[in-house]
Amino acid sequence: MKKLHLSSLALAVLMCLGMLAACPAFLPRAEASAPSEQPVRPRHGRPSQQVQNSAQYRPLTPYGTTGTGPSLYVLMYHDVVPEGTPCNPWTVTDTRLREDLQWLADNGWTTVLPGQLAAGDPIPGKAVMLTFDDGYRGNYELAYPLLQDFQAKAVISIVVSYVDGQNPDFLTWDMCREMVQSGLVEIGSHTYASHNADQRGIKRLDTETRDQYEARVLPDLQASIDLIEEHVGVRPGFFAYPNGHTEPWAMDFIHSRFSVTATTCYGPSRLSAGLYGLNRYNVSMGIPLSDFLPA
Ligand SMILES: [Zn+2]
Repeated sequence: MKKLHLSSLALAVLMCLGMLAACPAFLPRAEASAPSEQPVRPRHGRPSQQVQNSAQYRPLTPYGTTGTGPSLYVLMYHDVVPEGTPCNPWTVTDTRLREDLQWLADNGWTTVLPGQLAAGDPIPGKAVMLTFDDGYRGNYELAYPLLQDFQAKAVISIVVSYVDGQNPDFLTWDMCREMVQSGLVEIGSHTYASHNADQRGIKRLDTETRDQYEARVLPDLQASIDLIEEHVGVRPGFFAYPNGHTEPWAMDFIHSRFSVTATTCYGPSRLSAGLYGLNRYNVSMGIPLSDFLPA
């Protein structure tokens, strides 16, 4: 059990390191800036590259970062740990999460879920989507009670193999079901087990043919969808790209199965530009939400 715990932590650190490579706009504290109306696009996700690399993929609005109309701000959290626990750039304490939820409430922000976006529900002017990646147990034990206190909504994107494999550091299916039944939480996909392949998430391997890639990754994504639906009772509509890496060879598959996707690049997104490839701000200790969102 101890060995499993340590390997999970090592895995988590590696996952996070991968995000650094995924997006040049993923900046540490000293370099982080206020939200820009012209966010930097991910290195691997420029629309021109995407179209060149995929004969089938012809998105009208390839990334939800351009266009006009209301902005959506998406915050990215990972694990939530008890106050006093040392944090890395991808963890926050429960005290910090409470402060964030209080700040959002005090400043008139409304939390929205991917399902609301996909349904075309009216979105308030100050809309923020809270996302939690990987499916850590702290999301249930520490974040969920706070979401209840503030009646704030969040999407938790799980690495399904961790949950299905009963990894003690991650959520259980019962926890997922309970949170979803509250109406405050959606469960999204963060792959079944292809999150960490060579630190690329679902990005193709250098030596891989398209057939090999599709045989490796697409069934993995489908398994994540099927298991979430089986255990939670709701088909996931949200996909969080592991480490922020998009992949043209998976675009058609992902877009045919998910309504909303998100990367790890900083910046607001324009709803009029579509719901795929939404930017997100990584929330970490020491960087207040007011660095990202206008008051
Ligand atoms: Zn992740």
